[in-house]
Amino acid sequence: MKIGVPKESVPHERRVALVPATVGQLVKLGAELLVEAGAGAGARFDDEAYRAAGARVTEQAAEAYGGTDLVLKVLRPSAQEAAMLKQGGALVGLLQPSGSAELLAALAQREVTALAMELLPRVTAAQPMDVLSSQATVAGYKAVLVGAAALGRMMPMMITAAGTLIPAKVFVVGAGVAGLQAIATARRLGGVVSAFDVRAAAGDEIRSLGGRFVDPSQVVPDAQTSGGYARPLTEEEQQKVVALIGRHAGEADLIITTAQVPGRAAPKLISAEAVAAMKPGTVIVDLAAEAGGNCELTRPGETVETGGVTIIGAVNLPATVATHASQMYSRNMLSLVQHLMKNGDLALDLEDRITGPMMVTYRGEVRYPR
Ligand code: NAD
Repeated sequence: MKIGVPKESVPHERRVALVPATVGQLVKLGAELLVEAGAGAGARFDDEAYRAAGARVTEQAAEAYGGTDLVLKVLRPSAQEAAMLKQGGALVGLLQPSGSAELLAALAQREVTALAMELLPRVTAAQPMDVLSSQATVAGYKAVLVGAAALGRMMPMMITAAGTLIPAKVFVVGAGVAGLQAIATARRLGGVVSAFDVRAAAGDEIRSLGGRFVDPSQVVPDAQTSGGYARPLTEEEQQKVVALIGRHAGEADLIITTAQVPGRAAPKLISAEAVAAMKPGTVIVDLAAEAGGNCELTRPGETVETGGVTIIGAVNLPATVATHASQMYSRNMLSLVQHLMKNGDLALDLEDRITGPMMVTYRGEVRYPR
């Protein structure tokens, strides 16, 4: 089985789907690896390291795409890149299926079987392959660093000859994978952390990291579904949650928002009115920016300043921590390839309970949306 690792082509995308250490493990499993020259450069892995791990490095993108059975990517390929894929080959990556109808049609036409990592079932057996979780971990960590750097104050309490400084108050909205990592990071930097989530189960996790849980139970019933995710709130619940968050946000120096409901636009939880009531110098890092933002005033990819409040519409933070983000992504890929390999060959089974639901195209057919 031949596996291709092309260079990512989207501007500012510094990650790579496989790092040399994982290449070595795949070679040991009997796979042949073809890596495009410079693919790992953004994440600080040079071509020589890939060769040393047993890969062949090619200068030709067309070879990495077209000369292999399975292409591993971080982001979805462009139309030109997709046109280089081998007829009947396979593709794995964050394919953003909901906004990729044209791409999926082109892939189906080439009879490429494409697996969208976003559609990996969130079941225990699939956890080692879960790139949404691994990359959310990186994003939650980096969001706090970005926010801390934009603050005019330091995070920890300091007792110095020049006076005593009180610690920064950090408020995290949404305590999933990214939010919990943000809480842990803010605590390590010495911030006093509180966090809100509409799932009651998040309370214990927040407390176990040393955060204070802003309990929604007085305003909304537990919003956790049987699948473990949050359900969308009703209009009335939403208004109550916005008011509760507004009261807490007004006291914070740094606010990190991460709230999402799968398959929906991000819930708007911080109103323009709440921003207007914040202390000048408050910083908001909106990790939900790409899904529309948790703050009404967020602009994806931009930093907005209003009334002394800085709102950072963070997009693709994992790419800014490319070495570790790639290392984690690559471990996820290794687990996925091990799952897909049967007797040394690639076995794509639509009935497989982990990879079947991820197949957005299969043997010439577009299978998304279901
Ligand atoms: P996510 O990125 O979908 O959302 C982030 C958080 O936002 C969630 O905690 C959600 O409850 C919260 N949220 C949604 N609407 C909100 C609102 N109106 N106000 C405040 N918060 C709101 O979440 P995620 O990181 O993917 O995690 C969601 C759940 O899935 C968690 O229970 C997590 O443990 C679970 N999970 C399971 C697996 C697995 O078993 N493989 C992997 C990852 C996550």
